[in-house]
Amino acid sequence: MQTQTHYDVCIVGGGIIGCSIAYYLAKQGLRPLVIEKNTLGSQSTQAGAGMLGAQVEMDEPSPLYDLGIASRSLYKELAAELKDLSGVEIELQTSGILRLAVSEEDRAALRARHKWQGETGQKTEWIEDEELRRDFGNLFGPTFGALFLPDDHQVRNLALLRSLTIAATRLGAIFMEHTEVIGFLRQGNRITGVETPTGKFEADQVILAAGAWSGILGKWAGFDLSVFPVKGQAVLARTLAPVTPFTVFTHGAYMVPKVNQLYIGATMEQVGFDQSPALQGIARILSDAIRIMPPLAKLGMEQSLVGLRPGSSDGLPFIGEVPGLKGILVASGHFRNGVLLAPITGQIITELVTGHKPGFDLSPFSLAR
Ligand SMILES: Cc1cc2nc3c(=O)[nH]c(=O)nc-3n(C[C@H](O)[C@H](O)[C@H](O)COP(=O)(O)OP(=O)(O)OC[C@H]3O[C@@H](n4cnc5c(N)ncnc54)[C@H](O)[C@@H]3O)c2cc1C
Repeated sequence: MQTQTHYDVCIVGGGIIGCSIAYYLAKQGLRPLVIEKNTLGSQSTQAGAGMLGAQVEMDEPSPLYDLGIASRSLYKELAAELKDLSGVEIELQTSGILRLAVSEEDRAALRARHKWQGETGQKTEWIEDEELRRDFGNLFGPTFGALFLPDDHQVRNLALLRSLTIAATRLGAIFMEHTEVIGFLRQGNRITGVETPTGKFEADQVILAAGAWSGILGKWAGFDLSVFPVKGQAVLARTLAPVTPFTVFTHGAYMVPKVNQLYIGATMEQVGFDQSPALQGIARILSDAIRIMPPLAKLGMEQSLVGLRPGSSDGLPFIGEVPGLKGILVASGHFRNGVLLAPITGQIITELVTGHKPGFDLSPFSLAR
């Protein structure tokens, strides 16, 4: 028998974006329903490195840079708040990210970045090779200097996700796993809910946060959303003691120290929705990683990871209203930075749902851009 239920807000997709939105909505007293077709966090979110790379990921000033800096600044308070509410540590590590230059060209680009990011008021430190050798011996292969970004932190994705969902549940959110949204309820130009194989769920507001699948769901709801999958493969290596005190990031690979593990990522492959792990991709990142940090060759392999990032053609997420359609908001296309951007996305969507003016200019992230 079909059930029909009404919610304030129905969020389609229980990745880091959907769960963060649920948390921020629940904090404002709303009772969101999150519908997830698999298990919470089981897609792009479980594969991610958890870098809060507001500076390391950005080559030039852009609205995404500003959004990333704003989101990163929310993390310390969020970590404490979530610990109180959920009892779960999100493993926020504040040791920074070292961006190694591996050629003269790379050095020139990073020197330029050192300058413009400094001019925006962010911390950057330039480190010459002699200093790297003095402090880290033979940890690194050939380098051409490095940019240290002390405020680019990192978290453990699934700990963050668990913490957000426990906290949101305590505040009244509801999470429904193994339930696929297969269509949208519509009255005229308003989306009024979603349809699943087990029932219809009406909502004042539907939020589309289905990661790489958002473009497909957009079509079902009657609008174009250019979000596509970008496959990423990574590896977790076993470490008894940390190999590096901070994240090391360079062309071809990055190494993110976790508790008793080293995350080594990640490929970028446009192969549709194929999620099968392929040795070629893993071989490439491992050989790049070992070239840049030779001691990694001795580590034991623990696990390989694969996920589909929600890509967009200009690399910017879509956050906000759908032109010509009421009752639905989009939060998708966060590509390489969904974990970094989860808190600010949760805040912005909550502002829109509760009728407040967002604290951010959303035009660069609009569907009509
Ligand atoms: C290898 C790799 C490394 C990364 N490293 C970083 C990093 O260091 N820092 C960073 O910030 N980001 C990183 N990312 C990117 C980040 O993981 C993503 O941007 C983020 O996870 C996107 O979150 P999401 O909730 O939009 O998507 P997802 O986590 O994919 O969640 C979307 C959810 O929607 C569900 N869904 C889809 N269709 C339906 C449907 N019809 N009905 C119900 N549910 C549905 C899916 O099952 C899925 O669980 C990385 C990604 C990869 C793959």
